[in-house]
Amino acid sequence: MTYDADIGVVGLGAMGCMTAWRLAKRSVSVLGWDRLAPGHDQSACGGESRIFRTAYKEGPAYVPLLIKSRELWRELEGETGIDLLHLVGALSIAHEDSDYMSNVIASCRDYEIDHEVLSPAQVKERYPVHTLYRGEVAVLDRWAGYVRPDRATMTAARRAEALGAVLHRYTPIRDIQFGADGATVCSDTKEWRVRKLVLTLGPWTRHLLPATAESHKLVRIVLAWYRTENEARFRADVFPVLLRLSGGLDFCAWPIIDGDTMKVARNGSHGIFDDAAKLDRNVSPEWFVRWRRMIRDYLPGVIPDPVRIGAYMDSWTESGNAVIDTHPDCSNLVTLYGFSGHGFKLSPIFGEIAAKLALEEKTEHDLSIFKSPKLGPFGAIPCDAMAP
Ligand SMILES: Cc1cc2nc3c(=O)[nH]c(=O)nc-3n(C[C@H](O)[C@H](O)[C@H](O)COP(=O)(O)OP(=O)(O)OC[C@H]3O[C@@H](n4cnc5c(N)ncnc54)[C@H](O)[C@@H]3O)c2cc1C
Repeated sequence: MTYDADIGVVGLGAMGCMTAWRLAKRSVSVLGWDRLAPGHDQSACGGESRIFRTAYKEGPAYVPLLIKSRELWRELEGETGIDLLHLVGALSIAHEDSDYMSNVIASCRDYEIDHEVLSPAQVKERYPVHTLYRGEVAVLDRWAGYVRPDRATMTAARRAEALGAVLHRYTPIRDIQFGADGATVCSDTKEWRVRKLVLTLGPWTRHLLPATAESHKLVRIVLAWYRTENEARFRADVFPVLLRLSGGLDFCAWPIIDGDTMKVARNGSHGIFDDAAKLDRNVSPEWFVRWRRMIRDYLPGVIPDPVRIGAYMDSWTESGNAVIDTHPDCSNLVTLYGFSGHGFKLSPIFGEIAAKLALEEKTEHDLSIFKSPKLGPFGAIPCDAMAP
């Protein structure tokens, strides 16, 4: 049996590029494919910036992964000389009795995260844009900030290539066939054979693995960018990344990182759909109006008419925990999907875990929350016979 590479990675978005980098570092032969190219903004990586935070409202179980991920971001920066992770801090504001705040404070306490709990008066003095309401507290997570997804995925991909990976851009994969000894990956014009395959297709996962459709859905997320009356008040040194749960609203805001505008997002779903090819990228005028009150009430000094607005997508699981696992019916396939709007910050460690799963290496991390569900019929991909 001849192979074109030991490991293939289909989908070079956040997870695929990091997986390729982690594999190439081990001198394993790696092939990768993307329908576009690493760093494009049409996938779950679109929208300019991603929050990195360690005081984790999704639960303290993530903290060891976040700490390791931060080390790996620094490792990639060290290997390339490119700044990726900007630890400008993040301010979480919520009612002291909320689950959100309990999780944030438990993460800080249990893992000795560099943080500060701030009173309303301290917040007003240090971050004059923000006003806390009765019962609210603020936690400043100093191990937090932002990453630019385009820059980060492109950097990981180029580093993987420098280490020997071969990445095929503008090469949509149409079909994959599995057998006992490996996988055959087919584009419109060519086929490649690899021993093992890692599928990191983000919102397109169900195109090549229809059996996963039951276990995740596609969520539309609207982002908007605003100009401010005084840019000096929204620079990262006085306006760390904001995560706020107040007055029935759950939203986040970024400092000015493009030199001109700041970005705001409401957390949660802005529409459920079932085909990545059908994301509605148009944003209707109601959105512009709907967010005006939120901006006026919570972000004084931001001019409440967006200068840029866009719709993006990610794949979401019921629990909010991604699937990162060897496929239950096919030992040659590792799948990663369902990062549920919070996967980017963890992409280096998830790439490392994917590399270990593909190479059947042990990992020190507890992966039980990332287990693949039983998928039933294998879908379009037959696993029982080697492709001709
Ligand atoms: C608006 C928004 C805001 C977010 N904010 C944050 C945040 O602040 N912090 C955070 O940590 N996370 C955040 N996330 C989540 C994070 O960005 C995603 O979870 C992450 O990008 C998912 O990575 P992925 O590799 O699974 O998918 P993607 O990054 O979408 O990569 C999938 C890749 O597969 C390729 N592909 C698809 N089909 C094929 C095919 N047939 N052949 C070849 N290639 C194919 C695509 O072109 C794409 O490059 C956010 C997500 C969104 C959408």
